Amino acid sequence: AEDIPVSELALNPRRGGPKNLPIADFLVGDYDSESMIEQKDKPRLVILGTGWGSIALLKNLNPGDYHVTVVSPTNYFLFTPMLPSATVGTLGLRSLVEPVRRIIDRVHGHFLKASATDVDFSHKLVEVSQVDQDGNTQNFYLPYDKLVVGVGCVTNPHGVKGLENCNFLKTIDDARKIKNKVLDNMEQACLPTTSDEERRRLLSFVVCGGGPTGVEFAAELFDLLNEDLLHSFPRIVRNEISVHIIQSRSHILNTYDEALSKYAEGRFSRDGVDVLTNARVKEVQKDRVLFTQVEDGKTVTKEIPTGFCLWSTGVSRAEICETLSNKLEGQNNKHALETDSHLRVIGAPLGDVYAIGDCSTVQNNVAGNIIKFLRTIAWEKGRDPEKVHLTFSEWRDVANRVKKRFPQASSHLRRLDRLFELYDVDHSGTLDYGELSELLHQIDTKLTSLPATAQRANQQGVYLGRKLSKIAAALPGLKANEIDYGDLDEAVFKAFKYKHLGSLAYISNAAIFDFGGMTFSGGVIAMYLWRSIYFAESVSFRTRCMLAMDWAKRALFGRDIMSF
Ligand code: FAD
Repeated sequence: AEDIPVSELALNPRRGGPKNLPIADFLVGDYDSESMIEQKDKPRLVILGTGWGSIALLKNLNPGDYHVTVVSPTNYFLFTPMLPSATVGTLGLRSLVEPVRRIIDRVHGHFLKASATDVDFSHKLVEVSQVDQDGNTQNFYLPYDKLVVGVGCVTNPHGVKGLENCNFLKTIDDARKIKNKVLDNMEQACLPTTSDEERRRLLSFVVCGGGPTGVEFAAELFDLLNEDLLHSFPRIVRNEISVHIIQSRSHILNTYDEALSKYAEGRFSRDGVDVLTNARVKEVQKDRVLFTQVEDGKTVTKEIPTGFCLWSTGVSRAEICETLSNKLEGQNNKHALETDSHLRVIGAPLGDVYAIGDCSTVQNNVAGNIIKFLRTIAWEKGRDPEKVHLTFSEWRDVANRVKKRFPQASSHLRRLDRLFELYDVDHSGTLDYGELSELLHQIDTKLTSLPATAQRANQQGVYLGRKLSKIAAALPGLKANEIDYGDLDEAVFKAFKYKHLGSLAYISNAAIFDFGGMTFSGGVIAMYLWRSIYFAESVSFRTRCMLAMDWAKRALFGRDIMSF
């Protein structure tokens, strides 16, 4: 970075921060419109990422309240819920994206196509890394008064070998690669030089992960193969094609109501999609997937020859979140940046840094509350909690007997059951209080973290956009560098509360809906309802028009089955 001529970066010729990097200070010069000049003295709001959380924030921020700079390696917003449909040509890739510059225009902000790599909290500088067209990396600092981290998450490899042989489904590029791979396999299967065995391998499609993304992809793939490809590839016989879903839990879609999981499994079984439950992928090789299943108490390794493998088994934290977590006090979560209920990153100076969406989790210490509750019960029974040795059911029974006297007891007990259920804890062994506490703390993360969904990211973005505008309104006349935030968040706005509006999923010309207790599943009508919901949620009028055209094109001419 020392060698980069500052003028080339068009930055304010100032260097600084711990690494003495150029500082991109847009507050000096670089103004071409009145609205930008107006922002000159406004607090600098830097937003990392252009996903669901950041876009919702930008749409809810009052224009002119902040001097906004958005940093992201992607200059478009991707409407992820419909991404599986783009992998099979039902929808065009361009129908799912919206240029972020149009959205940022609303708040007269800047956009930098680059990645944030680190944050210096004491100097309030984000370190940004940008790769030029020759592949050289240039780093610089971006100063902020308020920083919002909305960088999402990355695919979780779960320590499995051979993931370089897999496809993923997270970005628009992933969708393009999948479509090309599926179609190329079909083309290759038709060549006269391809043996029967090789043809069956090329036409064997494996999906690792039975969550919503894996299931929706398998359903879309099944539709493509049945509705379009079999007609266009007459050399291929239906029973040569196979689709397999490998799921580690006992059901696919295990975060949905059980009846819906069963409905989806029934539908797949009728369609001949092979659902393998309680199966763990061990290794993905170029031409096969190895997985284990327990049979008669023994773990057996099995394999499926395959020409295509999708890895879709959950998410883990992005590199920048790991870097930030490691330098902040009070960050104990290995999966996401922990925030308080005002979405402020724990350990960072109060009110400076927020995190939203998949990269974050709200710390609410469920295990801590349950432990306190059990401790009180043990004392009530006249025993020193450190010396009590009980089985899980005995702990639960004691708590149940005294629950009338504790206002929160029922919810603690429900959560305790859910913690143990989630982790298939063996209920028969005895645990002393210390062991119980440790176990609960270990498994707490999963229970307390909010779902990694667009719904949550969107709600947090809306919340933060509105709150930041309130904060700006509470600071009239203050210049950027004169702000003493104190605990303004608490003073001007209520804490964030997630409201689950329900989950839905597409399964092969049918759809399922889980509106927190109220469930619904069905065929074509449900599928049209599913489409209408996402159509209404789509990001702009332009994308809505394009979606409608794609569906019409598909109905009239079939899916796009070209690979390039
Ligand atoms: P993202 O939307 O992932 O955005 C992260 C942004 O940060 C991106 O712009 C990225 O380029 C940028 N970024 C990454 N690293 C950096 C960096 N170092 N510096 C700066 N920027 C960075 N959720 C639902 O609720 N319903 C669904 O039906 C649904 N379907 C899905 C289907 C698929 C195929 C996928 C992949 C996800 C689906 N999800 C769904 C989940 C949903 O997409 C995510 O929960 C949501 O995108 C999270 O939003 P976010 O803003 O946290 O992150």
